[in-house]
Amino acid sequence: MKPDESIALVTGANKGIGKEIARQLAGKGVIVLVGARDPTRGKQAVADLRSKALPVQFLPLDVADQQSVDQAVSDIESQYGRLDILVNNAGIAVDWGPPSEAEIDAVRSTYETNVFGVFRVTKAMLPLLRKSKAARIVNVSSALGSVTLTADPNGPFRGRSMLMAYCSSKSALNMLTLQFAGELASSGIKVNAVTPGYVATDMNQHQGTRTVEQGAATPVRLALLPDDGPTGGFFSDEGVVPW
Ligand code: NAP
Repeated sequence: MKPDESIALVTGANKGIGKEIARQLAGKGVIVLVGARDPTRGKQAVADLRSKALPVQFLPLDVADQQSVDQAVSDIESQYGRLDILVNNAGIAVDWGPPSEAEIDAVRSTYETNVFGVFRVTKAMLPLLRKSKAARIVNVSSALGSVTLTADPNGPFRGRSMLMAYCSSKSALNMLTLQFAGELASSGIKVNAVTPGYVATDMNQHQGTRTVEQGAATPVRLALLPDDGPTGGFFSDEGVVPW
């Protein structure tokens, strides 16, 4: 690795928005570790990105599995000795009905990935991030996690009663973002949350109205923030999103 090169980890990067974040970051010269829990899917994504001459590498990583996360830390430590950018992108949405019909197992698995997974990966990667000159953490949240927008009787999600586990997991992720941003403010490590908008991916059976290119743009911008950029914020393409 050359001294001025940055090293990034994107979780859940074998498809969808995560793969596109990896593609855009690698296109800017960042060495990107493509985190994926399934080796076949991960290696396929890496082969596709490498065919475009992008500096990417497969990193086996199941964010819901502590052993897998610990192994990833050890792999990055031995190969690169530090991490400059962490994009917590991996997420699931499985409870598509009303809250009263949600299964507790679905709620638990949603939190295991979307909240505990981000906490697990962030905490484990922090020693490597602290070795960077200007580390950035980007948490891929959702406007559906905005308590303010959901509570607003005139807001876009008024009366919305589905995906309770998913929406509340993203609210928790937003608070997790603020908590880490607060602790890390004096270290120079910036921690922000982002909503990519409604993007056509497997998560919504490609019903989303935005492309992955559009959805990845703000996560990538936050991953490459200059030293005078914000921390502890929640952003979309249009600017600040209310918590
Ligand atoms: P997607 O196409 O379903 O991709 C999700 C990615 O997360 C996949 O690579 C998946 O891997 C990975 N993943 C799930 N559980 C994992 C685990 N335990 N460990 C490692 N990887 C795991 O969905 P997407 O739309 O790109 O979503 C990416 C992020 O954007 C999510 O956090 C989502 O909540 C957020 N988001 C999406 C939208 C939207 O409209 N699409 C809107 C707002 C926010 P597998 O292939 O192995 O399942």
